[in-house]
Amino acid sequence: MPDDFVYAGLDIGGTNIKYGLVDQKGKVLLKDQRPTMAGKGAEPLLHLVTNISERLLFHAAEEDYEVKWLGVGTPGSVDSRTGKVIGLSPNIDGWQGMEIGRILSERLNMPVLVENDVNAMALAEFRFGAAIGYQSIVCVALGTGVGGGVIIDGKLWRGANHSAGELGHVSINPDGPECRCGSRGCIETYCSSLAMIERTKTILTHGLSPIFEEILDGTLENLTIRKLFKAVKKGDEIAREVIEETAAYLGTGLAGIVNLLNPDIVVLGGGIAEAGGGFIEAVTAEIRKRAFVSATEHLRIARATLGNDAGFIGAAILGEAVR
Ligand SMILES: [Zn+2]
Repeated sequence: MPDDFVYAGLDIGGTNIKYGLVDQKGKVLLKDQRPTMAGKGAEPLLHLVTNISERLLFHAAEEDYEVKWLGVGTPGSVDSRTGKVIGLSPNIDGWQGMEIGRILSERLNMPVLVENDVNAMALAEFRFGAAIGYQSIVCVALGTGVGGGVIIDGKLWRGANHSAGELGHVSINPDGPECRCGSRGCIETYCSSLAMIERTKTILTHGLSPIFEEILDGTLENLTIRKLFKAVKKGDEIAREVIEETAAYLGTGLAGIVNLLNPDIVVLGGGIAEAGGGFIEAVTAEIRKRAFVSATEHLRIARATLGNDAGFIGAAILGEAVR
């Protein structure tokens, strides 16, 4: 493989499409992002993705980089053999059934590999991030939803129908809140940023604590996940309880997954994991309290290191992962 061979990848998120070129050591050579404008529907989004891909490949050509394939990460389950979105993609009307791989490959005249976005993130952390050197990895993405990606013995675990890794929809309470997946009490219904904000709001309707009063300018509607973590750092008791409760829910679910898979490492990524406030430490304590000693003895629990770049980096290296 020539030295000037580079990887090219796109990560289609609910808010932004992030994309870039990555060298063989994982160094990002170029990156940028554009608003997804998911509300405009699937066809305009496909045009945007094609447009970004062409510019990315043109830039690579300008720099004399060789690109062998393009990788794309997208929400929803993806048939990675055909590049077709087979699962529901919240926020993008008509995206389910979209044959991104085939359409892009025909337009760009090169192989295009498509994968679920959190699976791509897991691959990136495995190859260039927090999980370098480990073989069995559970990757958790904590954001407006809760996603997961599983790598077993160095290989992405896709399952029988490309649906594996959805750990946000492991239920930890049969009578818990209704989930968008149709079940109840899924990890996502407790640990997504939306769920955390809702729980905090419910408690604060009885009156704002002095710290929240200051952070929210007296208006509960101003509450965001960032402000919740800000309140924790300022020592707010309610905020601390919400974070600890969330960590306990997540740790409970993950303890089961750790017992099932006995991974080397659990990587926690996304805004909530990166916010600090003792969250990861609390999740770790809960997993260790609940899972088998034999399953946690050598277990590492770490924060993701590639941040927002993980999705497009993981997508970019898909051609290696499927070989
Ligand atoms: Zn669910």
